[in-house]
Amino acid sequence: MTTFQNLSLPTDALKNLNSLGYTTPTPIQGATIPLIQEGKDLIAKAKTGSGKSLAFLLPLILKLDESKYFPQALIIVPTRELCKQVAIECSKLARYKADVKIVTLYGGTSLTREVESLKKGADIVVGTPGRLLDHFSRESIHLEDIKTLILDEADRMLDMGFANDILKLVSNLPKQRQTLLFSATYPENIDKLTKVILKNPIEIDVENSEEKVNIEEKVYRVLDKDKALLDTLKHYQPNLAIIFCNTKVKTVELSTMLNDKGFDVATLNGDLEQYQRQEMLLQFANGSLPILVATDLAARGLDIEAIDIVINYDVPMKTEDYTHRVGRTGRANKSGLAITLVDKYGERKLLEIKPSLKIDEISRLTPNKNFYMQGSVATLCIDGGKKKKIRVGDILGTLCKDIGLESKYIGKIDVYATHSYVAIDKSMVKKAFNGLKSGKIKGKKLRIWWLD
Ligand code: ADP
Ligand code: MG
Repeated sequence: MTTFQNLSLPTDALKNLNSLGYTTPTPIQGATIPLIQEGKDLIAKAKTGSGKSLAFLLPLILKLDESKYFPQALIIVPTRELCKQVAIECSKLARYKADVKIVTLYGGTSLTREVESLKKGADIVVGTPGRLLDHFSRESIHLEDIKTLILDEADRMLDMGFANDILKLVSNLPKQRQTLLFSATYPENIDKLTKVILKNPIEIDVENSEEKVNIEEKVYRVLDKDKALLDTLKHYQPNLAIIFCNTKVKTVELSTMLNDKGFDVATLNGDLEQYQRQEMLLQFANGSLPILVATDLAARGLDIEAIDIVINYDVPMKTEDYTHRVGRTGRANKSGLAITLVDKYGERKLLEIKPSLKIDEISRLTPNKNFYMQGSVATLCIDGGKKKKIRVGDILGTLCKDIGLESKYIGKIDVYATHSYVAIDKSMVKKAFNGLKSGKIKGKKLRIWWLD
């Protein structure tokens, strides 16, 4: 078996991996890391949740020269959410090095602020194709020193029509570079891209290795989808659930319906502003809103632990979408359940994209009428974050020492650049809110909101 030791990593990198709880490489990591270290170009394919990010980030961080001023690596990803997630994973893995600067570039946020971060000197740039191109045309990004190009969820970017943007960007990168493609699925038309941007790539596919997928897949034939959805939730009684729809309109309709029935719901679709998307995901991940109703926007890459059920309210349009949606559960070798609800039309569609699935009757379920999903915590938003030098410990300090809240009532604390969020047990949220409003964090008076 491959271990991180076998991969000849420096001691401090090994220590850091250990401290992050990563003891053994996953199969895709074991298969790709040595090849990446040899400088090969790769087309790597492995199922969702198999640890692809670390596979490309670890070798990248190892070879990074922090003394250089301009970016040495460019990571292109399809969505803003994935951008942030990859950057966070990257900074964790880079903790053992003194000064690795990671800059994210994505739409919906201030361009000038991004330009400022680039000016301060970035080592690794993680961005979405459109926004990267914006920076390129404004000449605010320097690409001449890029040694590594990584495309994560490459097929998704093709689906989203980013092929030309990517080609334009890549044509401006140095020819002498390493290029790595990672995804869980590869469509036929990806050849167009791979032929142009990779050099003698090695194809790695660990999809068919013995490693067992822990996701149980079920399909129910239904007449009334709304009722079936409620029955499914009330039968399986999950703690955290994602429901996928095919349209933005449907996400809103379903959220309203579930809200009316007493469920606490987060909604995610492309119509929301960037900060709303972030707040929705945050409230889902911290348990304030234990159901997420989303379009395929949430199907790729998102890594939220402990999602115990994924429900396809609508049958996805393509096999790849099905794979990615279902891959939101059963992350990192936990078990998961994926359920697809089909009406007559949906059944035909599902047969096309996933003929192997067996269909059951929904009447087999025994829903518990009294089951609801409500967050046990509520989220408070604080008008201050990293820029004001606020840290998790400062917020904890005010809550515990000044306000006198026991730590068992305090949930996840997330500190971002300009805002912080803290989940508080609902029984204590009023006390926390009033205390934070009248008190100070790190000696500063800050505004507080209550997210609903
Ligand atoms: P993918 O991109 O393949 O869908 P991710 O890179 O998002 O998967 O990783 C899925 C989860 O597995 C993450 O929570 C990550 O922290 C965890 N993980 C990655 N590598 C390891 C490892 N070697 N050991 C344990 N957990 C890991
Ligand atoms: Mg990924």
